[in-house]
Amino acid sequence: MTDTRKSLAELGIVDAVQLEALFAALREEFDRAAAEARDGTEWEALRVAWAGRKAGKLRQITENWLKPAPPELKRAVGQHLNELRAHLEATLAKPPQAGAAAVAAAEAERVDLSLPGIERYLGVRHILSQVLDEIQQIFLRIGFTVVDGPEIETPYYNFEALNMPADHPARDMWDTLYVETPRPGELLLRTHTSPMQIRWMEEHQPPVRIIVPGKVYRHDNPDATHAFAFYQVEGLAVDTDITFCDFRGVMDYFVKEFFGPKVKTRLQPSYFPFTEPSADVYGSCFVCEGAGCRLCKQSGWIELCGAGMVDPAVYGFVGYDAKKFSGFAFGMGVERMAMLKYGINDIQLFFQNDVRFLRQFR
Ligand SMILES: [Zn+2]
Repeated sequence: MTDTRKSLAELGIVDAVQLEALFAALREEFDRAAAEARDGTEWEALRVAWAGRKAGKLRQITENWLKPAPPELKRAVGQHLNELRAHLEATLAKPPQAGAAAVAAAEAERVDLSLPGIERYLGVRHILSQVLDEIQQIFLRIGFTVVDGPEIETPYYNFEALNMPADHPARDMWDTLYVETPRPGELLLRTHTSPMQIRWMEEHQPPVRIIVPGKVYRHDNPDATHAFAFYQVEGLAVDTDITFCDFRGVMDYFVKEFFGPKVKTRLQPSYFPFTEPSADVYGSCFVCEGAGCRLCKQSGWIELCGAGMVDPAVYGFVGYDAKKFSGFAFGMGVERMAMLKYGINDIQLFFQNDVRFLRQFR
C-alpha cells in the first residue's frame, strides 16, 4: 500500500514519470479494494478510507503531496489528484452491490427454482418381507394362524417324525447342514419348515390351521435359483372332516389371491414322505397365460409348491387318531413366489442388498 502520510520526498519521488507510476499504483489499490467490498458496510469503510474528509487518502495527498510539492511537480500532482478524485467519486457513486465480488457471491448463492431437486429415497421394506406378509395375510383371511419354530432342529423333528426313519432314502431329498456338537448328528439346521407341523400337533389337538413362515437351510451351491438359506411358508390343516377337496380349494384360493384371479391351478402327482397322496401345485403361466413361453418352459404351467394330504403315519408320532382326523399340508419357497410374481431371475438379488434392486419395490 502506498503510504499517503509520507511526503513525496520521503517516498523518493523526484520526477513526473515516477509521479505517474505512483498515482497509477494508487488507482490500482483502490480498484482492488472496491472489487473486494462485499456489502454496504465494507463499501462505506472503503469510502472513508479513500474519500473521508478528515483522514481519507485524497485528503492526505492534498496535505502531504500537493501542498509541499516542489514547483516543477506541483501542477502534475494537482492533475493526477484531480483524475484520481474523479475516478473515486465515479466508482463510489455506484451502489455497493455493483462490486464484482458482491455480484459473484450473490450469483453463487442464487437458488434456481427450476432445477430438479435432490431426491432423497425413503427406505422401503425388503421385498421378501413384503411378499411374506402378503402370503400370511391371504391365509389369515381364511382362518389360519401364524406360528414360528426353531431354526436349529433335531433329526427327529426334521426327519423321523415326518415319516423318515434313519437311513430312509428320502432324507437325501434335502442336503442337510449339521450343527457341530459333541455327538455328531444331534442337531441340524432345519431343511424345511415342516418340523413345526410335528411340534404344533404334539401340543395342540385339532382343529389345526397354521402357517409357519421362516428360514430354512440347505447345503446347496449358491446360483441363480439356489441359496443356502431361504424362506419357506409351511401350512397345515387338520380336522375331523377335511377332504382332498378342501385341500384343492385352499390351494386354488391362495394362488388366485397371490397371482391374480385369471391363474388356474392344477395338481400333479408327486412324492413327499409325510403326505399321501402328494401333489405338486401348478399355476397356469401368468406370462403367456398358458400359450407357452420361456418362464413356463413352453408347458403353459409353473410349479408353485409341494403339498398333499397328511400321511396317516405322521399322526402316529403326535398321538392323533388317524381314523378320526385328516388334513393337508403344503410348503412353498417365498423367494420363488417373489421371483415368479415380480419376474426376478436371480435369487441372489434378494441377499445382496443393492439399493438399486430394493427400491424398485415400494
Ligand atoms: Zn408361459
